[in-house]
Amino acid sequence: MRKRSRVLFPIIFLLSALCVSVAYCMYSNAQKRLNVILIALDSLRPDHLGCYGWCYGYQRNTSPTIDRLAGEGILYTQAVSNATFTWPSINCMMTSRYPLSDKVFFFDEFLPHPQQALPALLKKAGYATAFFSNHIGLSRFNESLGNGFGTFVVKGDGIAADGPTKDAMAWIKTHARKRFFLWLFYFDTHEDFVGFPKTREGILPDDTRKYVRMYDDHIRYVDAQIALLMQHIQNMGIQRRTAVIITSDHGELLGEHADQYTYFKHGDRPWEFLIRVPLVLYCPQALPKGKVVQQQVQHIDIPPTVCDLVGIRAPGAFEGRSLLPAIKKGAPAQYAFIESRSVPAGFLTASETPEYQYAVRTTDWKLMFNRFTDGTAYYKFYHLTSDPLEANDVLMAQQERVAVFKAALDGFLLRQKQNTAGPLRKALTEENVKALKSLGYAQ
Ligand SMILES: [Zn+2]
Repeated sequence: MRKRSRVLFPIIFLLSALCVSVAYCMYSNAQKRLNVILIALDSLRPDHLGCYGWCYGYQRNTSPTIDRLAGEGILYTQAVSNATFTWPSINCMMTSRYPLSDKVFFFDEFLPHPQQALPALLKKAGYATAFFSNHIGLSRFNESLGNGFGTFVVKGDGIAADGPTKDAMAWIKTHARKRFFLWLFYFDTHEDFVGFPKTREGILPDDTRKYVRMYDDHIRYVDAQIALLMQHIQNMGIQRRTAVIITSDHGELLGEHADQYTYFKHGDRPWEFLIRVPLVLYCPQALPKGKVVQQQVQHIDIPPTVCDLVGIRAPGAFEGRSLLPAIKKGAPAQYAFIESRSVPAGFLTASETPEYQYAVRTTDWKLMFNRFTDGTAYYKFYHLTSDPLEANDVLMAQQERVAVFKAALDGFLLRQKQNTAGPLRKALTEENVKALKSLGYAQ
């Protein structure tokens, strides 16, 4: 008997090792073949999606497709953007660097090292890269990225989400045999629905309800476009080797903080409603299904995650970290840093001294710091778990904890100060200015 186990044990050991190796090889091979599709809906709040209904209690059926993908993929409940408006947010989603690291905030500021951004890295690794959007304010985004997207199509002027969807599907058809990285950026959920005033003056509760209904209707419309896209991927036979990431560039105020701030808008102060974003990672071939991750993650984590998914090395310049290890075993808690700047004239250029806004956040607490143009400043501190609306500033009652958060923020700002690289400044064309003004980015 003892002799038999002596023979059996090495055999079992060898078989187990072989199984692990085969599984690893299958996973590695799957990684090497993966396509990645990033889908972002402008200004989309997670609390208006069905898949987050269990934590926010929202009842409207706005997102059956996104809900399905979340159910078959991974849902992140504590995802935050690193900026509160589009331009810095989408740039850091490609560079894995905080906006302050490259100092790209306004629309005339472009990335200083685009070769380290995700599209250029993937292109270099042999990926076909493409960007499709109906956000006309982004017509020079590829210039900021050093033309990292081999195909770049931005069409606006009343083009709805079906425009970029059709373009993306046609492009996929011609690239289905290759490895590709595709970003679809939908503008439809952005503010400025027809017929609504841009300021809170004169807005009645009924107006707010109507506005929110329109916001939800637009989410539902884009969700249907995502359904078409997913069907197309299935028809092309590439669903099993395509990872899909769904998020937004920032959130939106839908009446919250209306006493202090604009009504249906984003930008400026990093309130929770502006920085909480949905994040779904769907890749049934390589990743677990139906997993919920409650750890805080950030937009700057997207590029290292994509690198991890496709099996290429993330450059040292990345400041985020891959989301994949946290799925299995959890990762140490980390701070998220959120930044913004604003000038009264809008977001075209920092021709005036901007007002600075920063936040340092964990899943439970958040320190906000505002420095105004006249040099005055204030801190606010919130316990997010018990006060998700950020109505009670507990700065004075939590002084010891506040000191820890202030030290984290000071350390972050000091590191950024030492980073001397600045953005490339490029003058906006008349056409750029006209487009951005029409979208409300400037007075
Ligand atoms: Zn945006």
